[in-house]
Amino acid sequence: MARYTGPDCKRCRREKTKLFLKGARCDSPKCAIESRPYPPGDHGRGRVKESEYSIQKREKQKVARMYGVLERQFHNYYEQASRQPGKTGENLLTILESRLDNVVFRSGFAKSRDMARQLVRHGHFLVNGRRVNIPSFQVSAKDVIEVSPKSRDLTPFIVARAEAPEHTSPAWMDVVPSTMRILIHSLPTRAQIDATVQEQLIVELYSK
Ligand code: SF4
Repeated sequence: MARYTGPDCKRCRREKTKLFLKGARCDSPKCAIESRPYPPGDHGRGRVKESEYSIQKREKQKVARMYGVLERQFHNYYEQASRQPGKTGENLLTILESRLDNVVFRSGFAKSRDMARQLVRHGHFLVNGRRVNIPSFQVSAKDVIEVSPKSRDLTPFIVARAEAPEHTSPAWMDVVPSTMRILIHSLPTRAQIDATVQEQLIVELYSK
């Protein structure tokens, strides 16, 4: 499947916010948003008058880039969210958070969503005892996700275990580093999703 392969930091600078795409570097002074907090390109520092449409579009791009989702799939998620009861914007964020790659990232078993995606694709995770290598797989409440026993001694997982005491995972999951397991209590509500996003702007964009 096609995906963006350009520089990650450019995406953050374009959205003028940290999207946390590069693991530990994102929390360090090397973060490009700290040193160059303006959009890339010759006119990055110029004053641009933004229309309502461009603000809505930027918000959508920001969220899609944050979760590493391309346009068509993002739109499919929106359609799915709009068919569910409740607020479409909040449903959309819950669907994105429930992706297996995001769950692995949030658990601390991967330093970024890109890395999580790669680990999932390589078949290192089991969901309820069955191997799942699809990063967009949607987890459900009460699912148990674990690193496959054969993969537990690979370097990324040894590092994740060592760094587990410094990691805080969200309240909607329980992470057990010693057994490399994640238990999903329930799917996250909007209040439990740590993302500076104005999801209403995305709903307005797609409702036009
Ligand atoms: Fe974004 Fe991380 Fe690069 Fe900072 S270091 S600009 S948060 S990808």
